[in-house]
Amino acid sequence: MNVRYFMPTRVFIGPGCVKANAPRFSSLGSSALVMTGRSSARLNGSAGDVRAALESLGIRYRFYEEIEPNPTIADCRKAAGVAREFEADFVIGIGGGSPLDAAKATALLARNDLVDSAIFANSYPKPALPIVAVPTTAGTGSEVTQFSILTNDSITSKSSIAWDGIFPSIALLDAAYTESLPRAVTVNTALDALSHAIEGYLANKSDPMSRTLALESMGVICRSLRRLEGASIAREVREDLLFASNMAGMVIAQTFTTAVHGMGYSLTYFRHIDHGRANGLLLGAYLAFIARDFPKPVAEVLSACGAPSLAALRDLLDGVLGERESIGEDEIARFSSLAIKTGHIANTMKTPTEGDLAAIYRESFR
Ligand code: NAP
Ligand code: FE
Repeated sequence: MNVRYFMPTRVFIGPGCVKANAPRFSSLGSSALVMTGRSSARLNGSAGDVRAALESLGIRYRFYEEIEPNPTIADCRKAAGVAREFEADFVIGIGGGSPLDAAKATALLARNDLVDSAIFANSYPKPALPIVAVPTTAGTGSEVTQFSILTNDSITSKSSIAWDGIFPSIALLDAAYTESLPRAVTVNTALDALSHAIEGYLANKSDPMSRTLALESMGVICRSLRRLEGASIAREVREDLLFASNMAGMVIAQTFTTAVHGMGYSLTYFRHIDHGRANGLLLGAYLAFIARDFPKPVAEVLSACGAPSLAALRDLLDGVLGERESIGEDEIARFSSLAIKTGHIANTMKTPTEGDLAAIYRESFR
């Protein structure tokens, strides 16, 4: 048996975990740049809790509340300039994957003066500033990954920094912050986490440790997806989704992602489909593609998901996705030609050709 596992982030999950663990911030320095999206962190209580913690510790801080979904290289350069000017010792990211990823890239760029092409080199002269992550969506798992995914106009797609130096030092997960998530964001982010667990399970880089976490994670997410009907979403479901998305993040930190993520980036870049939804739209056809040559691992995924067949899992996905967007043949050709060039392809259990990718897109948007 060969196992490789690296998880340098201290993770705390539970009600009140920001307040309870705030004294740990002092070990990271005496000044913090706090990065959030435009408004949600102020509304869901997370920004207030972090502010109170920093004040109680006498840590200087500045809020930077300008991160939009799918952050760009330019967004992170601007924030890094603020971090340098403020002489921040560490960066706190609060929000969905977008502010968390932006906080990681900002922590890297604050210490390293890099031209655009060097940002994704995954090797840098100086260490990044330490990072604290407070997720307020239950999806990306970015609080426990070494990835920062940035919109990269030079390749009309998204590019990933994948560097151990941007694993957050501390991750604080309180499901209370996710209570305010609209149903659509709850579903889309849950589908991102499900995709991480399933892709991670089926990745060439998977191993017994990552597969164990992946099976547990996908089981909890599918159970939660079945409980999303009704007027309100129970706190227990919110807690389960946050825990499962964190496990799925730990999975992809070991395994990386596969063709689904590589294909989904075009749907987000060109069609503005949310990241998690993009993955969710592709998952069914992707599983059917893998199952043709590798039925056993796909059967293991279905069993963990509590689905008696692939058709049953696709029904569950269809139920939460609702009506699908349509895409044209010209888009399918362009998106397939971009996805085939990504590193995700070599990590996919059954290596797809460009024609296979086109067929998966076509089947996903039938
Ligand atoms: P997001 O882009 O961070 O946020 C989506 C929307 O949700 C924003 O409008 C945000 O509002 C809002 N929001 C966030 N938390 C909320 C809350 N508690 N209540 C109400 N609204 C809330 O969404 P995401 O899906 O979490 O992140 C997607 C990004 O993560 C993509 O860029 C993707 O590529 C990346 N990603 C990274 C990894 C990784 O390992 N690093 C893995 C997968 C995906 P505000 O703007 O006002 O905050
Ligand atoms: Fe993702």
